[in-house]
Order: sequence, then C-alpha cells, then structure tokens
Amino acid sequence: MTSQNQAPRSIAIVGAGQAGLLLGCALLDQGYAVTLVTNRTPEDVWHGRVMSSQFIFDPGLQIERDFGMNQWEAQCPNTEGIGFSIPAPDGSGKQALHWHARLRAPGQAVDQRIKMPGWMAEFQRRGGELRFEEVDIAGLERLAAGHELVLLAGGKGEIVNLLGRDESRSPVKQPMRQLALTYVKGMRRFDYFECVNFNLIPGVGEYFVFPSLTTKGDNDTQVCDIMVFEGVPGGPMDCWQDAKTPEQHLEVSLNILKTFLPWEHERSRDCELTDANGILSGRVTPAVRNPVLTLPSGKLVMGLGDAAIVNDPITGQGSNNATKSAGHYYHAILARGNQPFDAAWMRHTFDDLYDNNLSAVARWTNSLLFPPPEHVVNLLGAAQQLPTLASRIANGFNDPRDYLPFWFDAEGAGKAIEQAAAPMAA
Ligand SMILES: Cc1cc2nc3c(=O)[nH]c(=O)nc-3n(C[C@H](O)[C@H](O)[C@H](O)COP(=O)(O)OP(=O)(O)OC[C@H]3O[C@@H](n4cnc5c(N)ncnc54)[C@H](O)[C@@H]3O)c2cc1C
Repeated sequence: MTSQNQAPRSIAIVGAGQAGLLLGCALLDQGYAVTLVTNRTPEDVWHGRVMSSQFIFDPGLQIERDFGMNQWEAQCPNTEGIGFSIPAPDGSGKQALHWHARLRAPGQAVDQRIKMPGWMAEFQRRGGELRFEEVDIAGLERLAAGHELVLLAGGKGEIVNLLGRDESRSPVKQPMRQLALTYVKGMRRFDYFECVNFNLIPGVGEYFVFPSLTTKGDNDTQVCDIMVFEGVPGGPMDCWQDAKTPEQHLEVSLNILKTFLPWEHERSRDCELTDANGILSGRVTPAVRNPVLTLPSGKLVMGLGDAAIVNDPITGQGSNNATKSAGHYYHAILARGNQPFDAAWMRHTFDDLYDNNLSAVARWTNSLLFPPPEHVVNLLGAAQQLPTLASRIANGFNDPRDYLPFWFDAEGAGKAIEQAAAPMAA
C-alpha cells in the first residue's frame, strides 16, 4: 500500500464493534497504522449487557474468515437452515403454516460480549493502537488532525446522529417494533436440522430463535439459545415495561410463547437465563445516514456500519451489513493507494455499497415491518408445498438482493411460484 520509504497511511476508527474491529484488524494486516478509539473496555463488554443477537450468515462469516477473524468458528454451534411458521388464527395453538429449508452453508452467532473483547486483543496483537475514550466532536477533531482518514463506527451511540439522516433513503420514520432478547440454556431441539426458527404472528409480531455461543463466568464460554421478540408497538407482545428483574423478563418471554406459539413454549418451558445480563429490550428507528460529516474545522469523518445504515433487527442483517461494509471499505481504501480520502471518494464508496447492495437489504427488511401484501402471503404459503421455493426464500437471507425479482410485486412472486412448481409438475 505504500512504497518502502513512505510512512504507512494512518486511519482512525471510532467504535470497537463488528464493523470497526473487523476493518481495523484487516487494515493492520496490510500495513496501515490504525488507531481505534472506543468507550468500553474489554472487561466492560464481557461483563455487560447483551447488545444483539448477532446472527451472521455464511457470506459474512466468509469475510471474517478471509480476514483471519473467525476465532470462535469451531466452538460456535452451526445453524443449518431457516424454519418458518405461522400460528392458526383460531387460537388452537396449532401451526397454520410451517416449512424449513437448508441454507447453502451454515450461519453462526457469537455473542458480541465474547467477540469484541477477543477482537480488541487481536487488534493489539496485530499492532493497532487501542484507546478508551468517549469520543465527541472535539475528540473527532483531534483524530482528524492526526489521521488521514477518520471512520465513525459508533453503532447506536449518540455520536452517530452527527451524520444526520438521509430522509430520501429512510422511508420508515419511527420504530416499528418493541424488541427484546432473552439468552437461555436448556432449550430442547426440534426433530429437524438446526434452524433460525422464525415465527410470524399476524398483528402481534415476530419471534425467532437460534443457537449461539455466549459467555460463562469471567472467561469461559457456553452454548445457548437466543430468543428474539419483535412486538408490534401497543400490541400484546409490547409488554416488557413491567419486567423489572431478569427473572421477570424470562417469565414474560415464556408467557408470550405459551400464549401465541405453544410449540416453541413446549421446548422452552424449562429454560433458564444464561446470566443476569442475558436480556435486553429496546427499539430501533431504521435510518440511512449521510456518509460524510464535515467537522467545524472543515475536516471530514466517514460513517461505517450501523452509523451509516441501521435497520430493524427483524431480518437479522445488521451485523451482516456491518461485516459487508467493513469488507467493502477495506477494498476501497486499498484501491485508493496514496490518493487523498476526500469527500467525493467517501460518498462514492458509500453510494456504491448502498446502491449495489445495502439498499436491497433495507428495502426487504422494511417490507417485513408492515402487514404482508397478498403476493408475499402466497409466496410464504406456497413454500410449504414447494421445497425449491422454501430454499430460495431461506437463502435470500445470505444476500437479500436475491429477493429483488420476486418479493416486491405480484408478477415476480407468481413467476417464482411457477418456476418452483415446474420441476415438480414435469
Ligand atoms: C435486539 C437486536 C438484535 C440484533 N440481532 C442481529 C442479528 O441476529 N444479526 C445481525 O446481523 N444483526 C443483528 N443486530 C444488529 C447488529 O447488532 C448491529 O447491526 C451491529 O452490531 C452493528 O455493528 P457496528 O460495528 O456498526 O456497531 P456496534 O457493534 O454497535 O459497535 C459500536 C461501537 O461503538 C462504540 N461507541 C459508541 N459510541 C461511542 C463514542 N461516543 N465514543 C467511542 N466509542 C463509541 C460502542 O461501545 C461499540 O464498541 C441486532 C440488533 C439488535 C438491537
């Protein structure tokens, strides 16, 4: 990236999360001088509250492998497919619809409480400078004065709001779900291969659940399952305000399953929390932000990961996006050689990623926040009879651009159903 006599290019990253650490470590391997500033120490993260369910599909895992960042791959349970269920509307507790289909390659979820401390150590091992500080505008100015490129990868931190929403790319203006996470052990398995089991309860919300690797005590790990609840605001799954203790949070989780998804309750009834911090509730406002921030000094900062684009977790794409973004920025930085990281380059780098990839993820994710149109109901129903269609829908999670031809209009959906049915009829 530089000739032998030149000093390495210097890059500062704010935020030690999925995007910042991955990109920072990858750039260190290429000889860049990387400073990473974050507001939580490894100990804070390990002993803190869970932040996500962080399920990553194979294309994201491949980027981690390519960067030598797959440290927990052998320990973490594999999830082989996607299961999809809708309960019967008559309240009988039966499934009106169920299918499951294999992913082309498994996905995994490593608790960020394990991953981020581990990656911070890896960042330092590769020669990066790691600092602990709550970064504000003055902090950004200091970083911009001393580095050729400053990336803001502050996730959900207040600071990312400095980038400002791009309203034209952010059609959903408020949180559409009340979210909750419950990390548990002791869940029984279904009699089919391991899946992200996604349940859609019309008018109430969604529940999905899958295995993960989480923390155990001060430095050990254990396998668990992560329950993810997505309640329609004001509906019966928007019920976390009264859960004041971790035990009450688990009780609310199990009550929801008992009421709406008895087949999930049946295998979860004896579950225990992994730890008192294995719970979370909150809301996310989907946003695409302006990728470039101009500081009072005129220096520039570029958004990365959730700071640049954040979606509701309903499709489990945020960590995947952060990973793909890190990969995309990595190649763009390398391709830039010794030319300046100016505003035009920043905008082009983000627009290229957004237009050719992440806009499709956002469009599909946002579509699931509203009652499904008839053609989507037809697609999901037909998948029960048509394994190739079930497989096509399941594998779209790997790369949501694959939904573009068939998810968004009745004609495309009809064709997808016909195509999937054709070999069966032949
Ligand atoms: C309930 C829930 C479930 C989810 N489930 C999934 C899922 O299954 N699959 C999936 O792909 N995605 C999921 N996501 C989304 C995923 O967690 C995020 O998209 C991903 O972590 C974003 O990575 P990031 O690097 O941009 O930000 P983060 O990983 O959030 O990292 C941000 C970093 O910035 C630091 N920081 C913040 N402010 C400052 C500051 N002022 N100064 C210094 N440091 C700062 C933070 O401490 C942190 O280290 C979920 C999210 C939620 C809320």
